[in-house]
Amino acid sequence: AQSLADADPQLASAISKEIQRQQTQIELIASENIVSRAVLEAQGSPLTNKYAEGYPGRRYYGGCEFVDIAEELAIERAKKLFGAAYANVQPNSGSQANQAVFLALLKPGDKILGLDLSSGGHLTHGARPNLSGKWFEAHAYGVREDNALIDYDKLREQAKEIQPQMIIAGGSAYPREIDFQAFRDIADEVGAYLLVDMAHFAGLVAGGVYPNPVQLADVCTTTTHKTLRGPRGGMIISRDEALGKKFNSAVFPGLQGGPLMHVIAAKAVAFGEALRPEFKAYAASVIENCRAMSGALVEAGYDIVSGGTDSHLALVDLRPKSLTGDISEAALERAHMTCNKNGVPFDPEKPTVTSGLRVGAPAGTTRGFGAAEFRRVGEMMAEVLDALAVNRDGDAEVEARVRDEVIELCERFPIYPALG
Ligand code: PLP
Repeated sequence: AQSLADADPQLASAISKEIQRQQTQIELIASENIVSRAVLEAQGSPLTNKYAEGYPGRRYYGGCEFVDIAEELAIERAKKLFGAAYANVQPNSGSQANQAVFLALLKPGDKILGLDLSSGGHLTHGARPNLSGKWFEAHAYGVREDNALIDYDKLREQAKEIQPQMIIAGGSAYPREIDFQAFRDIADEVGAYLLVDMAHFAGLVAGGVYPNPVQLADVCTTTTHKTLRGPRGGMIISRDEALGKKFNSAVFPGLQGGPLMHVIAAKAVAFGEALRPEFKAYAASVIENCRAMSGALVEAGYDIVSGGTDSHLALVDLRPKSLTGDISEAALERAHMTCNKNGVPFDPEKPTVTSGLRVGAPAGTTRGFGAAEFRRVGEMMAEVLDALAVNRDGDAEVEARVRDEVIELCERFPIYPALG
């Protein structure tokens, strides 16, 4: 019964440094969050030892009665959270959830129509290097040049011309509400399945502050680790139990083997947390906080793509300051604010450079930051970036001063105090 520190000091040290990094940096990556101690405990439990191929009550291994409880809890809570008739909590990731939906509903060579990567779409929605772009005839719709909102008129025209078997809504860097009814209507007009990938905004849907696509889509996929604040993983939900049977077969035995029962247990814990009234307040604060942060950036002369946000994320357009995303991300990291470079729609820069930054409020809100703290985060970002615009190597003095203030702020809102 050796502790990790005794058994493997090298690894223990890496974990300890990562915990310290999370404790002392402001996490602005829109796809990340900070899970509760209860979620960590479930995920770190001996359920990791168990093979449980199959589904609750229908397993290919003995000894599954207790992991069945965990999976049933996760399924029931997921259905309740989103008003769904069906849930599969076994996908190991958001990507695998999408692949399982493709496996269930499409054949190789079928046509799919998803949001362009450069307009905020995800790799798994038909990007060339991804399986979805290689095995299907992938087409992309985009956003309007004048307001950066999804161009629904053009989407309808494209759908009529292409006649896709599946239309995919949702993305990784689209800050606004999505008109799911418009997607449904267009899908019906051309006889396509509608998949809504709600990976990014699932927690906002669960919290009742973003439109719920479940009754409009044929199927929804999500990750469980972003705004939903659970362990790293994926999930498929649907209003349609009959289609659900196909998704079950596609996940197992179609795509995966033994489900990660410790992760499924942690999903159940997180969904239980999301069903509580506090989570509604959390979700509302995430949006308010993201607006406070982006408002401060606008006041400092930065552009926010589409002029604002309806969600947990905002896209900062750095072009008014002649900055690029790559050096901006690095400068902010030196000041202990972690975010990612991101292309803006119609970005003239390469994807490795970009003209933008994606920032999000889910993690900071979890650690207790309110609108005042997020406004200050926006101001501090602007201080670092303004200095970078003057000196492309970064202004060490400004960065050090901001870093000190960031660390102080993090200390006022501690995370994982029991973990050192
Ligand atoms: N779908 C969307 C919209 C995403 O943003 C992501 C993750 O970034 C995924 C799917 C993939 O999730 P994972 O990283 O768990 O494979």
